[in-house]
Amino acid sequence: MKKHTVKCMSVEEISDEYLKKLNIHSRDGYEISNKMFSQQVSWGEHVYCPECNSVNILVLKGDGFQIKGLDFIGIICNDCKKIYYFYDVNFR
Ligand SMILES: [Zn+2]
Repeated sequence: MKKHTVKCMSVEEISDEYLKKLNIHSRDGYEISNKMFSQQVSWGEHVYCPECNSVNILVLKGDGFQIKGLDFIGIICNDCKKIYYFYDVNFR
């Protein structure tokens, strides 16, 4: 399977203001990853987990009123049991 080569950043590299806008939520049984990825992860028809390449994922949608363009804010991977948020959402 083709490996995603999407840039990764750590939560520490992201501004607090951005993280606040992202309005991060956890889910039962899932850990919020310290790694954040580009929205590129959610482009195209076949969306994979950038960590394990699993297709067993859910894409998280943000508040469309607050976001310019693509309103995906992250993914949930059912194999990693982690939530990966995106670092490049365009908030208004
Ligand atoms: Zn995964």
